[in-house]
Amino acid sequence: MTARPRPHLPMRPVWLCRNCAAPWPCSPAQLDLIAEFYGHSIALAFYLAASMHEAIDDVYGLGLRPSSPAMHARFLGRLSLARWPRRSPRL
Ligand SMILES: [Zn+2]
Repeated sequence: MTARPRPHLPMRPVWLCRNCAAPWPCSPAQLDLIAEFYGHSIALAFYLAASMHEAIDDVYGLGLRPSSPAMHARFLGRLSLARWPRRSPRL
C-alpha cells in the first residue's frame, strides 16, 4: 500500500500550508490550482480573491493587521502566469 501524497491545503486561521508550512498558496498549491482550474482562469481568480478575503478576515480575527499589498501579491500575484498560455516570442 502506497501513501497518498498530502495535498497542499491552507491551515486556518494562520493560512500556512498543511503539508509544507509555507504561506498558502505555496508553490505546489499554486501549481495544483493552475492544473485544477485549467481553462477557467476567471474562476481561479474568483477563488483566489475569495481566499484572500477569508485570509484577511482571519488575520484581523487573530488581532493582527494584514498588509493589503502583501496579501494581494501572495494570493493574486501569479494570476497572470496562469491566465495566459505560454507563447513563443515573436521576432
Ligand atoms: Zn505546501
